[in-house]
Amino acid sequence: MSDFLFPAPQPTYVPIQGLDQVFPVRRIYCIGRNYADHAIEMGHDPEKEAPFFFQKNPDNVNLSKEFPYPSQSKDVHFEMEMVIALHLGGKNIPLKDALNHVYGYALGLDMTRRDLQATMKKMGRPWEIGKAFEKSAPISSIVPASEVGHLEQGKISLKVNGELRQEGNLNQMIWKTAEMISYLSNYYELAPGDLIMSGTPAGVGAIQIGDTLVGEIEGLGQFEVKVV
Ligand code: MN
Repeated sequence: MSDFLFPAPQPTYVPIQGLDQVFPVRRIYCIGRNYADHAIEMGHDPEKEAPFFFQKNPDNVNLSKEFPYPSQSKDVHFEMEMVIALHLGGKNIPLKDALNHVYGYALGLDMTRRDLQATMKKMGRPWEIGKAFEKSAPISSIVPASEVGHLEQGKISLKVNGELRQEGNLNQMIWKTAEMISYLSNYYELAPGDLIMSGTPAGVGAIQIGDTLVGEIEGLGQFEVKVV
Protein backbone atom coordinates (compact mmCIF):
# COMPACT_ATOMS: atom_id res chain seq x y z
CA MET A 1 0.00 0.00 0.00
CA SER A 2 1.08 3.59 -0.61
CA ASP A 3 1.70 5.98 2.23
CA PHE A 4 -1.31 7.65 3.81
CA LEU A 5 -1.90 11.20 2.62
CA PHE A 6 -2.02 12.30 6.26
CA PRO A 7 -1.63 10.35 9.50
CA ALA A 8 -4.32 7.66 9.73
CA PRO A 9 -6.80 8.07 12.62
CA GLN A 10 -5.71 6.32 15.78
CA PRO A 11 -7.78 3.22 16.59
CA THR A 12 -10.04 3.61 19.59
CA TYR A 13 -10.00 1.07 22.35
CA VAL A 14 -11.39 0.23 25.77
CA PRO A 15 -9.24 -0.92 28.71
CA ILE A 16 -9.78 -4.42 30.04
CA GLN A 17 -9.94 -4.85 33.79
CA GLY A 18 -6.88 -6.71 35.07
CA LEU A 19 -5.05 -6.84 31.73
CA ASP A 20 -2.40 -4.68 30.05
CA GLN A 21 -3.96 -5.51 26.68
CA VAL A 22 -6.79 -3.27 25.52
CA PHE A 23 -9.92 -3.97 23.47
CA PRO A 24 -9.84 -2.32 20.02
CA VAL A 25 -13.20 -0.94 18.92
CA ARG A 26 -14.56 -1.56 15.42
CA ARG A 27 -18.24 -0.55 15.55
CA ILE A 28 -20.75 0.53 18.16
CA TYR A 29 -24.29 -0.78 17.75
CA CYS A 30 -26.99 0.56 20.06
CA ILE A 31 -30.45 -0.91 20.56
CA GLY A 32 -33.42 1.41 21.02
CA ARG A 33 -36.13 0.96 23.65
CA ASN A 34 -34.98 -2.36 25.10
CA TYR A 35 -36.61 -1.95 28.51
CA ALA A 36 -40.40 -1.86 28.54
CA ASP A 37 -40.63 0.90 31.16
CA HIS A 38 -38.31 3.14 29.11
CA ALA A 39 -40.26 2.45 25.89
CA ILE A 40 -43.40 3.53 27.74
CA GLU A 41 -41.78 6.73 29.06
CA MET A 42 -40.79 7.59 25.47
CA GLY A 43 -44.41 7.13 24.35
CA HIS A 44 -44.21 3.71 22.69
CA ASP A 45 -45.91 0.37 23.17
CA PRO A 46 -43.12 -2.15 23.88
CA GLU A 47 -45.29 -5.14 22.94
CA LYS A 48 -45.56 -4.30 19.27
CA GLU A 49 -42.00 -3.59 18.30
CA ALA A 50 -39.27 -5.61 16.61
CA PRO A 51 -35.80 -4.60 17.81
CA PHE A 52 -34.12 -1.70 16.07
CA PHE A 53 -30.56 -0.44 16.19
CA PHE A 54 -28.61 2.69 15.45
CA GLN A 55 -24.86 3.26 15.60
CA LYS A 56 -22.41 5.54 17.26
CA ASN A 57 -18.99 6.15 15.76
CA PRO A 58 -16.07 4.16 17.17
CA ASP A 59 -14.26 7.40 17.94
CA ASN A 60 -17.20 8.53 20.11
CA VAL A 61 -15.79 6.22 22.82
CA ASN A 62 -15.02 8.44 25.79
CA LEU A 63 -12.59 7.13 28.40
CA SER A 64 -11.87 10.50 29.98
CA LYS A 65 -14.39 10.28 32.86
CA GLU A 66 -15.56 13.71 31.70
CA PHE A 67 -18.42 14.45 29.34
CA PRO A 68 -18.18 17.86 27.69
CA TYR A 69 -21.66 19.36 27.26
CA PRO A 70 -22.13 19.18 23.48
CA SER A 71 -22.95 21.98 21.07
CA GLN A 72 -26.33 22.64 19.45
CA SER A 73 -28.50 21.16 22.21
CA LYS A 74 -30.33 22.39 25.28
CA ASP A 75 -31.63 18.97 26.33
CA VAL A 76 -28.84 16.42 26.70
CA HIS A 77 -29.89 13.17 28.38
CA PHE A 78 -28.09 10.33 30.14
CA GLU A 79 -28.97 6.71 29.28
CA MET A 80 -27.22 4.18 31.51
CA GLU A 81 -26.56 0.90 29.65
CA MET A 82 -24.67 -2.36 29.80
CA VAL A 83 -22.13 -2.64 26.98
CA ILE A 84 -21.48 -6.02 25.34
CA ALA A 85 -17.99 -6.47 23.84
CA LEU A 86 -17.52 -9.06 21.06
CA HIS A 87 -14.26 -10.89 20.37
CA LEU A 88 -15.71 -13.09 17.63
CA GLY A 89 -17.79 -12.10 14.63
CA GLY A 90 -19.83 -13.69 11.90
CA LYS A 91 -23.03 -13.64 9.89
CA ASN A 92 -26.27 -15.44 10.70
CA ILE A 93 -25.09 -16.45 14.16
CA PRO A 94 -27.49 -18.97 15.70
CA LEU A 95 -28.95 -18.05 19.08
CA LYS A 96 -27.32 -21.01 20.79
CA ASP A 97 -23.82 -19.89 19.70
CA ALA A 98 -24.30 -16.18 20.24
CA LEU A 99 -22.89 -15.85 23.77
CA ASN A 100 -19.62 -17.49 22.67
CA HIS A 101 -18.99 -14.27 20.73
CA VAL A 102 -19.02 -12.16 23.89
CA TYR A 103 -15.64 -11.28 25.37
CA GLY A 104 -17.00 -9.26 28.26
CA TYR A 105 -19.18 -6.48 29.57
CA ALA A 106 -18.76 -2.84 30.54
CA LEU A 107 -20.77 0.06 31.92
CA GLY A 108 -21.67 2.71 29.39
CA LEU A 109 -23.64 5.88 28.84
CA ASP A 110 -25.53 6.49 25.61
CA MET A 111 -25.42 10.28 25.84
CA THR A 112 -28.18 11.79 23.72
CA ARG A 113 -29.02 15.23 22.37
CA ARG A 114 -32.72 14.54 22.99
CA ASP A 115 -34.03 17.71 21.39
CA LEU A 116 -32.17 17.01 18.14
CA GLN A 117 -33.21 13.34 18.22
CA ALA A 118 -36.86 14.35 18.72
CA THR A 119 -36.73 16.72 15.76
CA MET A 120 -35.21 14.04 13.54
CA LYS A 121 -37.81 11.47 14.68
CA LYS A 122 -40.62 13.87 13.88
CA MET A 123 -39.21 14.44 10.37
CA GLY A 124 -38.51 10.73 9.78
CA ARG A 125 -34.79 11.46 9.49
CA PRO A 126 -31.76 9.56 10.85
CA TRP A 127 -30.77 10.07 14.48
CA GLU A 128 -27.02 10.58 14.11
CA ILE A 129 -26.88 14.19 15.26
CA GLY A 130 -28.76 13.18 18.40
CA LYS A 131 -26.64 10.15 19.17
CA ALA A 132 -23.30 9.89 17.36
CA PHE A 133 -21.40 13.00 18.41
CA GLU A 134 -18.03 13.58 20.03
CA LYS A 135 -17.48 11.94 23.44
CA SER A 136 -21.07 10.60 23.39
CA ALA A 137 -20.13 7.10 24.57
CA PRO A 138 -18.51 7.22 28.02
CA ILE A 139 -17.51 3.66 28.85
CA SER A 140 -15.80 1.82 31.72
CA SER A 141 -13.15 -0.88 31.51
CA ILE A 142 -14.40 -4.19 30.13
CA VAL A 143 -14.75 -7.06 32.59
CA PRO A 144 -14.14 -10.39 30.82
CA ALA A 145 -17.02 -12.87 30.84
CA SER A 146 -14.46 -15.45 31.96
CA GLU A 147 -14.43 -13.60 35.29
CA VAL A 148 -17.96 -12.33 35.72
CA GLY A 149 -19.98 -14.81 33.64
CA HIS A 150 -22.73 -13.75 31.25
CA LEU A 151 -24.83 -11.06 32.85
CA GLU A 152 -28.47 -11.95 32.43
CA GLN A 153 -29.78 -10.41 35.61
CA GLY A 154 -28.68 -7.89 38.19
CA LYS A 155 -29.39 -4.33 39.12
CA ILE A 156 -28.53 -1.51 36.72
CA SER A 157 -28.77 2.03 38.04
CA LEU A 158 -27.65 5.61 37.62
CA LYS A 159 -27.29 8.29 40.24
CA VAL A 160 -26.96 11.98 39.41
CA ASN A 161 -25.30 14.03 42.17
CA GLY A 162 -26.02 11.18 44.56
CA GLU A 163 -29.73 10.97 43.71
CA LEU A 164 -31.07 7.74 42.18
CA ARG A 165 -32.47 8.53 38.74
CA GLN A 166 -32.48 5.25 36.80
CA GLU A 167 -33.00 1.80 38.21
CA GLY A 168 -33.81 -1.48 36.54
CA ASN A 169 -32.68 -5.05 36.21
CA LEU A 170 -30.83 -6.63 33.29
CA ASN A 171 -33.50 -9.35 33.30
CA GLN A 172 -35.99 -6.70 32.11
CA MET A 173 -34.28 -6.39 28.73
CA ILE A 174 -36.84 -7.19 26.04
CA TRP A 175 -34.13 -8.47 23.67
CA LYS A 176 -31.48 -10.50 25.50
CA THR A 177 -27.76 -10.40 24.72
CA ALA A 178 -27.82 -13.58 22.60
CA GLU A 179 -30.89 -12.39 20.72
CA MET A 180 -29.33 -9.02 19.90
CA ILE A 181 -26.16 -10.66 18.57
CA SER A 182 -28.07 -13.18 16.49
CA TYR A 183 -30.44 -10.51 15.13
CA LEU A 184 -27.68 -8.04 14.26
CA SER A 185 -25.69 -10.78 12.52
CA ASN A 186 -28.56 -11.31 10.09
CA TYR A 187 -28.16 -7.73 8.88
CA TYR A 188 -24.43 -7.07 9.36
CA GLU A 189 -21.28 -9.11 9.45
CA LEU A 190 -20.24 -8.77 13.07
CA ALA A 191 -16.53 -8.71 13.88
CA PRO A 192 -14.15 -8.74 16.83
CA GLY A 193 -14.14 -5.28 18.37
CA ASP A 194 -17.84 -4.63 17.96
CA LEU A 195 -19.65 -3.17 20.95
CA ILE A 196 -23.38 -3.35 21.59
CA MET A 197 -25.03 -0.84 23.91
CA SER A 198 -27.93 -2.86 25.27
CA GLY A 199 -30.53 -0.22 26.08
CA THR A 200 -31.53 1.82 29.08
CA PRO A 201 -34.09 1.40 31.84
CA ALA A 202 -36.63 4.13 32.67
CA GLY A 203 -35.68 7.39 34.29
CA VAL A 204 -33.65 9.08 31.56
CA GLY A 205 -33.28 12.79 32.06
CA ALA A 206 -31.38 15.97 31.35
CA ILE A 207 -27.90 16.80 32.58
CA GLN A 208 -26.36 20.11 33.62
CA ILE A 209 -22.74 21.17 33.58
CA GLY A 210 -21.24 20.21 36.94
CA ASP A 211 -23.36 17.08 37.39
CA THR A 212 -21.69 13.87 38.54
CA LEU A 213 -23.13 10.70 37.01
CA VAL A 214 -22.45 7.39 38.75
CA GLY A 215 -23.56 4.27 36.92
CA GLU A 216 -23.64 0.85 38.53
CA ILE A 217 -24.28 -2.66 37.26
CA GLU A 218 -24.32 -5.61 39.63
CA GLY A 219 -21.23 -7.69 38.83
CA LEU A 220 -19.39 -4.87 37.04
CA GLY A 221 -19.18 -2.25 39.77
CA GLN A 222 -19.44 1.49 39.26
CA PHE A 223 -18.18 4.18 36.95
CA GLU A 224 -18.29 7.93 37.30
CA VAL A 225 -18.55 10.66 34.69
CA LYS A 226 -18.50 14.39 35.34
CA VAL A 227 -20.35 16.78 33.04
CA VAL A 228 -18.02 19.65 32.11
MN1 MN B 1 -29.73 4.10 24.48
